[in-house]
Amino acid sequence: MNAPPRRAVSVNYHFLRTATPSQFALRAHETPERFDSQLAQISKRFPFCRADELVDLTREAPESSVMLTFDDGARDVVTWALPLLEKHGATASIFVCAQPYLEGRLLEIQKIEFLMKKLGIDGFRGAFYAGYERLFGAEIERESLDFAGSYGFYRYDDEAVRRFKLDLNYQIPYAQVIPILEALFTETFGAGSEAEAVRETYLSADELKQLMDRGFELGVHTHRHRVLPRLDFEAQKREIEIGTAFLRDLTGQTEFTVAYPYGFHDENTHRAMRELGLRAGLTMERRAIEPHDLRDRWSIPRYDVNDCFDRESNQLVDAVFSQLATGKAGSRSQGADE
Ligand SMILES: [Zn+2]
Repeated sequence: MNAPPRRAVSVNYHFLRTATPSQFALRAHETPERFDSQLAQISKRFPFCRADELVDLTREAPESSVMLTFDDGARDVVTWALPLLEKHGATASIFVCAQPYLEGRLLEIQKIEFLMKKLGIDGFRGAFYAGYERLFGAEIERESLDFAGSYGFYRYDDEAVRRFKLDLNYQIPYAQVIPILEALFTETFGAGSEAEAVRETYLSADELKQLMDRGFELGVHTHRHRVLPRLDFEAQKREIEIGTAFLRDLTGQTEFTVAYPYGFHDENTHRAMRELGLRAGLTMERRAIEPHDLRDRWSIPRYDVNDCFDRESNQLVDAVFSQLATGKAGSRSQGADE
């Protein structure tokens, strides 16, 4: 247990592709070309580590490292990221939801993305609220956002778009959003299209096993990608437990790191994590990982790739990564670190 305190910057990715070859397209994604350059820039300055290596304080780990994570289990990880990760000697942690495998269903978050791209934001919004009114009436029921504290949702969108995204992802009850999305998806892409979208979008079970055999970490992104603090304790625990059981059955592994969907978590989440014997929980709080984060383990911060590389030049954002270089002799005293 005498390993020196360690710091890290975690960079989170979702989709990474050149273009989408089919009707299930995305509005935004990282490209292999940019990823190649990002890995080259990181590898010049820092070693890479997986989440499980970083959080296990009994293991040797570099004093400063960069932890790459991929959320949502996109097929892009094998198609586009893997050759580049191997080229640069980089490792990564890949977080997957169980629903596509257990039920053959697309996660709502991807259904929303595909519909937004296909119908345009205005078309999608009009169709969604018309569907809402048809099924549930003109008065919209909205859940509280109190769990998010002062988090700035969708800061770069105008108010109408922001309102719509909040409704879709955070405020209209799941029991109402899901049937509307389902009907719109079938209407837009055709009957039977969901199975095709699942095959095209997510890593297959075999690909997951291949990634593990090649030394990548497979982690839990829960069962259905719900916003955990919107659920009560029992429901949160079930979401995490089903996601964990799926990977345990697939891989035979027993210990897992969890990436909370959308990064949100609360005391009930931490209690569920403890009761399920999980290793650590990753958030989307945008800052570097410090020694105290690794002691607490349930709220490990992560940056999005857009925080870490300039959108135009793709140059590494120094304010993010210099926390590592200077972190070694940083403001925290040795005593506080230990
Ligand atoms: Zn996710």
